[in-house]
Amino acid sequence: GDYKAAENRYKNVEGTGFYRHCGKSGLMMPPLALGLWHNFGTNDDYENMKKMCFTAFDNGITHFDIANNYGPVYGSAEENFGKILREELGAYRDELIISTKAGFDMWEGPYGNWGSRKYLIASLDQSLKRLGIPYVDIFYHHRMDPNTPLEETMGALAQIVKSGKALYVGLSNYDGPTMAKAERILDELHVPFVINQNRYSILDRSVENNGLLKQTYASGKGLICFSPLAQGMLTDRYLKDMPADSRAVKDGRFLHEDQVLETRPLLNQLNEIAAGYDMKLSELAIAWLLNKPEVTTVLIGASKPEQIISNLKAVEKQAHTVMTDDELQKIEDAVAA
Ligand code: NDP
Repeated sequence: GDYKAAENRYKNVEGTGFYRHCGKSGLMMPPLALGLWHNFGTNDDYENMKKMCFTAFDNGITHFDIANNYGPVYGSAEENFGKILREELGAYRDELIISTKAGFDMWEGPYGNWGSRKYLIASLDQSLKRLGIPYVDIFYHHRMDPNTPLEETMGALAQIVKSGKALYVGLSNYDGPTMAKAERILDELHVPFVINQNRYSILDRSVENNGLLKQTYASGKGLICFSPLAQGMLTDRYLKDMPADSRAVKDGRFLHEDQVLETRPLLNQLNEIAAGYDMKLSELAIAWLLNKPEVTTVLIGASKPEQIISNLKAVEKQAHTVMTDDELQKIEDAVAA
């Protein structure tokens, strides 16, 4: 490939506090990261994938988030990103934070799911092959496993770091109390656990109710929030129409048209609140998260490069917008009604 990264990719954000520490660790994270859950699968357009990665990196987004089973088919997002690394972005490897995960269904049989030492170590080895790199920057256990001792799962993460296959580890979809227990074990094993990845948006408050939000901050861990736009609902995409090229219509595995229709009145209400800040709904959704001291990074998905540019505007607007308690309460009132 002949990709050359934009020369001004760091200058444009210099001195703006764009990069921030991941919790109390030394790892710096961008406020916005690109996730490869959708639109990087076997049947997606490779040229578009490349353009999205370039658009992100050219604008200071140094972090790309993947998991073993992103696709479909499982593994194809890692393969596609591996190809982009090999052909284009690899020259910038030391400017990138690449994460992957294991914890959900990946391969058949009893060793391709959940949290055993057997699964985690084999899965990361497979991921590294698909990505074509010797180590990832962050490796996550993808979800809590009630049937495996935490000591075993955390021990596997420790071995993964010691063997040089991940620089840092993270936990995803953990609740506050389980994360605190895991943290104690990881501390004893001297594992650099730096980040939690959880779903968090104006529409999904699980982390406020399961102790994770408080615990991640108290423990000095970073928090990266996935589905910040509620898979696209918190944008202008569904306010009036059901666009043919939208996730709800063209995919429908994880976001259903029914769900969108049910939520539409609230989305329009939130859109009006956004207008009061001179923001689009998507910008409000991102700014609302970045406004919180617990939040390190907002982890967006995109189907087009322009969406990434648009979401970066939200970062800039947030930095210049004061959201008062009274105004924030309007959002709470809307979602509570
Ligand atoms: P979002 O809530 O950001 O939804 C992304 C979708 O919203 C896009 O695909 C696009 O949908 C639409 N969109 C984005 N920006 C705009 C815009 N400016 N204007 C209009 N529409 C826009 O996040 P995702 O649900 O995609 O999740 C993001 C990442 O989080 C994943 O890729 C993955 O890395 C991670 N994740 C982690 C999980 C975990 O268990 N740890 C679970 C789920 C996600 P459209 O296709 O309609 O254009």
